[in-house]
Amino acid sequence: MKIDIVTLFPGIFAGPLQESILGRARAKGLVEIGVINLRDSAEGRHRVTDDYPFGGGGGMVLKPEPLFACVEALRRPGSRVILLDPQGRRFSQDVARELATVEHLILLCGRYEGVDERVREHLADDEISIGDYVLTGGELPALVVTDAVVRLLPGALGDEEAPGKDSFGAGLLEGPHYTRPEEFRGRRVPEALLSGDHARIARWRRAQALWRTWRRRPDLLETADLSPEEQKLIEEFKHGKKPEA
Ligand code: SAM
Repeated sequence: MKIDIVTLFPGIFAGPLQESILGRARAKGLVEIGVINLRDSAEGRHRVTDDYPFGGGGGMVLKPEPLFACVEALRRPGSRVILLDPQGRRFSQDVARELATVEHLILLCGRYEGVDERVREHLADDEISIGDYVLTGGELPALVVTDAVVRLLPGALGDEEAPGKDSFGAGLLEGPHYTRPEEFRGRRVPEALLSGDHARIARWRRAQALWRTWRRRPDLLETADLSPEEQKLIEEFKHGKKPEA
């Protein structure tokens, strides 16, 4: 997979792209990530990338010419051009899974008041928002999308940390985790996790995941793939029963 990130601020990416899972996935050759300075695609001595908005009003707008020139040089069959934009479709684990199957992502980071509307209409194939709030630029959203997508690529995580176990991976929130010590400030690790009984541990984890999802995100249960026993457990929660602590 290849991900090209088009930005006016390439320095933002240096740390996040070389650390941890993203850094390892790149080193293993699972993904190639390019950070492209939009200014290099601007013409003229001053390489201007933004201009005043027609009609007045404050702020600057990213000009279309450098963005079109940059994308046209990068694009190939199998590319998907994504504009990061608070007005785009909402990013989620499902969208991350969808993007992880695309051969080449081109992520366009807006700045200032945003990009010239013709970029949205005639250059981007897709627009993605990472949530209902406005950030200063598309760089952090591009990193969020890149991280969520790359960790789904086969081989990016160790077997023990398969993404299917994470929240949203199997349609539920994940249950709680504990590590040593067994007792901390008077609070003990749940007995089931110390039992060494793998079937009991699996049952405990599933019940905790269902409980958490039911308490925090009941909307997820509407589409989760639940067995008849799990549906019965949810009914019991509704009648006041709690899972084994
Ligand atoms: N004036 C725009 C509006 O009201 O819709 C907001 C522009 S914002 C200050 C500048 C850039 O940050 C956007 O062009 C976009 O690339 C990025 N951005 C800000 N918030 C975002 C979000 N929630 N999701 C994705 N990108 C975002």
